[in-house]
Formats: sequence, C-alpha cells, structure tokens
Amino acid sequence: MIARHLLHLSALTALAVAPAAAQTANNTLVLTHANVVDGVSATVVRDATILISNGRIQSIRAGGAVPADVAVIDLGGRWVAPGLIDAHTHISTLANARRALHSGVTTVRSASVPAYQDVEMREMARAGQIAAPDVLATGVFVTPNLGETLLADARLGTLAGGVNTPEQLRALVRVNLDHGVDWIKTRGTERAGLPDTDPRKQVYDERELRAIVEEAATKNVPVMAHAHGDEGAYAAVAAGVKSIEHGTYLSDSTLRLMKQKGTWLVPTLSTIWDLTQPGGDYDDPVLVLRGQHMAPRIEDTIRRAHAMGIRIAAGADTDYGAESVTRISHEVMRFRGLGLSAVDALATATSGAAELIGVGTKTGRIAVGYEADLIVLEGNPLDDAAWLQDVTVVITNGRVALNRLPFGRRPTR
Ligand SMILES: [Zn+2]
Repeated sequence: MIARHLLHLSALTALAVAPAAAQTANNTLVLTHANVVDGVSATVVRDATILISNGRIQSIRAGGAVPADVAVIDLGGRWVAPGLIDAHTHISTLANARRALHSGVTTVRSASVPAYQDVEMREMARAGQIAAPDVLATGVFVTPNLGETLLADARLGTLAGGVNTPEQLRALVRVNLDHGVDWIKTRGTERAGLPDTDPRKQVYDERELRAIVEEAATKNVPVMAHAHGDEGAYAAVAAGVKSIEHGTYLSDSTLRLMKQKGTWLVPTLSTIWDLTQPGGDYDDPVLVLRGQHMAPRIEDTIRRAHAMGIRIAAGADTDYGAESVTRISHEVMRFRGLGLSAVDALATATSGAAELIGVGTKTGRIAVGYEADLIVLEGNPLDDAAWLQDVTVVITNGRVALNRLPFGRRPTR
C-alpha cells in the first residue's frame, strides 16, 4: 500500500553501488510545461521546466531541454506551488498522515499528540519509509492534567497529580526534550473545543510560562502557546513564546507586545468555523453557538494583527481524521477575505510558515536548492486561493506522493 502511494524515485533502480552518473540520472524527475508560483513573491514563471534530483530543486528554466533517461511529468500548463505547510496539526496515525499529504501538505508542525507519534513519524517520513509530510514534533502537551498522555512515558507518572508548579512544568518539558521534540506546546488558556471549558480563562501565569520557555531554551527549542483569552495570551507573549495559537480575544495591547517581540499568530480560523457547523472535528450544540460568537472575534483579531504587521501562519488544527473537513487551503482563502494580499495569504502556508517553524531555508518556496516539496494545481493560487483545494500532484522531498495525472487539458492559463 505504502509503496503504491510513495513512489521513491531513487528506489526505481538499484540504490546500491550504482555509478555516480547513472544514479544521478535515475534519481531525477523533470516537470515540464509548469507555471510556477514561488510562495514568496508575485512573480510567475511560465512554461517552465523544473529539474529535481536528490530531493532538491536543481533548476527552474523557462522552456528548457529535458535530459534523456529521466522520469518526466508533463504538467500541460498546470500550476506549481510550494507544498503546503500546516503549522498546527494533531496527526497521530499513518492514515491521517497520508490524508494530510494528499491534501497537498508536505510539512507540518505538530501541536501535540498523545504518545510521541509525531517524533516517530518525523523519523520515518525523513527516511522515506512512510507516506507522510515532514514533521516538526512537539510530543506531549504541557497542560495541567495529562490524563491519558501519562502513558506516553513512565517518567510522567510523577506528574499524575498535575502539572502546575514551575518544577513540574520543567520536568514535563525535560521529558519532551529527551524524546527529541522540535517544539514545546503549552497553553495560556482553556480550550474552545469542549463545552464545559471557557476559552477565555487563563491557565498558566507568566512565571509558570517562563519556566517552560526557559527549560525549552536549554535545548534551543521554541514554545507555542494555545491561547484564546487575552490575559493568558499576554502572559505567554511576555514569557517569550514564539507563537500564539488561536488568539481569539487578543487586545491591542497584547498585539502590540507581539509586534514588539516578534511573536507569530497562528489563528486556526477554519477550526473555529468548524465549531459552527454540524459534523467535522466538532459536533456539539454548545460549540455551534460558541463558534458563532467566536468567529467574528477571531476574524477581527486577524485583521488588527495583520494591520499591525504581526506575522501570521496557517494552521488547520485538525488531526486529518476521516471526519475532518478543515484543510489548510481554507485558512489561506479566509485570510484573503480578511484583507491579506494574495502573496501574503499564500505565504502563511508556504514561505512564512516555514520561517516560523524553523525550516525557512529548506522548504516553503519553489527555488533552486530548496527541498522539492511542491504541489500541482489546476489554476493560479494567486488568482484564487480555492485552487489550493484541488491538488493533482504532490511531491515531497523529490518523491511523488500523489499523481492524479494525466487527464484532459489544463482549465486555466
Ligand atoms: Zn490544536
């Protein structure tokens, strides 16, 4: 099954002791007749030939000759954009990882999973063993009650009574760091997605959050903080977290502090809208009503944050389960509607998100030397972000993860 989904180009021929020249030739994929959007600028390269080898983009040329004996995908005038980056996911199964990848997401930042599945997924994806996006792992959520996630590591047993003091918080962060996480996820406030919690209510204060940030910094690991309410968010920003997740009720003073400290906003707006609708990841009448008053608030926050020049990254905040109806494309489309330019909106899910999560020099744009993480679309996503929903080819680290072509001719030019 996996092999069918993940055609590893270098595996087509003997990986062992092939002569260098032959290996290079057979490790190469060429995309022809591509219109290219780079994820950074408004520049479009038309009718380009993109040469990919050893997992990287080697050249992008208008027209251009195709070398002999290499795999070629003729895109017939379709559009190539960077593989999407989802800066807030909860993927913990192989099926869901594949669903994310097939939606065009080639890199994710995990926002916590129960038992370090994100760490293991990162390693297997990196080795090309499974069909999954590249993963920045977060491990166990740093939250007062670990519940079932206690079972992730026997050392967490000492925290069965709660994770509240700076010492307890540091202990949990250390276990996460020991598992090799790339990020720490904690919370400034309660959840929105449970009927009995109020998302405005603060959970950790600045001193407690600072303990988390300081402990994580011993391994140069940044911290992301779930926060809807303003007090909890302000405390998290003051404590030095790198990004605020959600940020529904942020005041101007909190936004000003974010601007001053370079804190990013990852609003996960689409999941707030998911609250308002039956089905999807949330299906509860209390949440339907809550979502209806949260959605205008978070949209107002996004408008003010963008006007103040705060960096925004896209996160779908889903596990990509079979019931999920939120995708990163929705986030980009909604940001367009809130006043971000086409280039800025696309960057929230490509080059900008890559910068936030720490992979901005490797992926998130279509450029020579970057990882060959890219998607093929039926139209120009800068004209209409909705094209991002209709992904026909997904390439991750130079490997073809999905290819629905060939069919018909391209619909737009
Ligand atoms: Zn989340």
